[in-house]
Amino acid sequence: MADSKQSGKPDSMTVSKQSDGLVNMAENKQGHRTITMTTAAGTTVERVVDGSGRLLFTKEMKKEFLLLSPLMLPVHMSMIRNSFLSEGYNMEVLHTSHRAVVDEGLRHVHNDTCYPALLVIGQLIEAVKSGKYDPDKIALLITQTGGGCRASNYIHLLRKALKRAGYEHIPVVSLNLSGMEKNPGFSLNISFIRKLIYALLYGDLLMLLANQVRPYEKEPGAADRLVDKWVEALNQLYMSGKTTPYRTVKKHFSQIVKDFAEIPDSGEKKLRVGVVGEIYVKYAPLGNNNLEEFLRSEDVEVDVPGVLDFMIFKIDNRVQDAGLYGAKWIKKAAVALFKGVFVKCQKDLISAIKTSPRFRAPAPFAETRELVKGYVGYGNKMGEGWLLTAEMLELVHNGSAGVVCTQPFGCLPNHVSGKGMMGLIKKNHPEANIVAIDYDPGASRTNQENRIKLMLATARARQEEKPDMTHQ
Ligand code: SF4
Repeated sequence: MADSKQSGKPDSMTVSKQSDGLVNMAENKQGHRTITMTTAAGTTVERVVDGSGRLLFTKEMKKEFLLLSPLMLPVHMSMIRNSFLSEGYNMEVLHTSHRAVVDEGLRHVHNDTCYPALLVIGQLIEAVKSGKYDPDKIALLITQTGGGCRASNYIHLLRKALKRAGYEHIPVVSLNLSGMEKNPGFSLNISFIRKLIYALLYGDLLMLLANQVRPYEKEPGAADRLVDKWVEALNQLYMSGKTTPYRTVKKHFSQIVKDFAEIPDSGEKKLRVGVVGEIYVKYAPLGNNNLEEFLRSEDVEVDVPGVLDFMIFKIDNRVQDAGLYGAKWIKKAAVALFKGVFVKCQKDLISAIKTSPRFRAPAPFAETRELVKGYVGYGNKMGEGWLLTAEMLELVHNGSAGVVCTQPFGCLPNHVSGKGMMGLIKKNHPEANIVAIDYDPGASRTNQENRIKLMLATARARQEEKPDMTHQ
């Protein structure tokens, strides 16, 4: 580590003894110390820790280290990665899905921890041990929601797992919007946040449109090719280093909708099936045993709500907290402003989708939020909280022939707002055809798929009675 400012090495050295067995140390003005650690391979590396002993991701690491990230959102992640690259980070998204991922999770995460934590940590540890990367030159990236759920605590479980696996010297970087776990080499500036938000918007739009076009395309693969084409074009734009003004993003929205609308439609009628649930198992093929692919093989249109609602939901929770427990005016103003930005983006995205009569646009967040009145309170905000109930209701209201509610093992919050709400939803909407599917390391894929097939059989029987119950 050449430069003391970049590496976080002390400007003025105060050497002190450390009680945790790690080797030498010195403290700088920020209370950061440089320590020497011995790796499992017997080599020694220098690392910087903060006052609490947390390993830091330094400015020097930003240039030299590769950030490894788990995969959650297949369409969005490529653009999220390019947001990182354009900000000077090296980053790779892990696409591994073989059994060793689950086995590493089982080995290193306590077995009463929720399944998404087990998979995310298993995927990262498996990558570290794979031999594909230099363990002395990688850092792991993980999101923290900042809420009360375990998603905020994965990071601590990951560090514990790294320690147990002999890789304690690998820094872990938290991606969050709550100001948690600061690192000298990682920061979310305005331009970076903007790029990440754009990645979510583009990702949602491409996902929503591709799902509505794919089952009816005359030329197989046309929708997927268009997704790839747009992802490639947007990635190039990201990498050009130019800041994209929002008016250009809106133009892209219109062009994307136009491009998808031009894909020839076979005019077939198919059942539409929604997918909701805990955010990781809802989107990640690793978490849900390739649920979307399975549903497509059953010749139905898959309807997966975008991630934008989840983002607004998380910010809305902060607004609720400020109202319920009080907060400084500046904090209230900041969260209200931030929510306003996302709501405006969602409005523009919906308006763009509505320019084509071929597509069904999602409901604005405020409307989705209204749906849960009489079901759960807005204080129910752990995990997906009330949003999960709202998403099931939205799908029922917009005529989905069936809904798969993905429920990971060990996830109490989403069992309450998912499975726990189904009885009431079915009572109020007898036409609702919802099936809860549990995901855990030992769950049989065949059983999961058989249960979904039963739900589809019900949907098809109803379709025969009411033939207009299709995607149109
Ligand atoms: S919402 Fe459920 S699955 Fe997700 S982190 Fe929380 S407990 Fe785990």
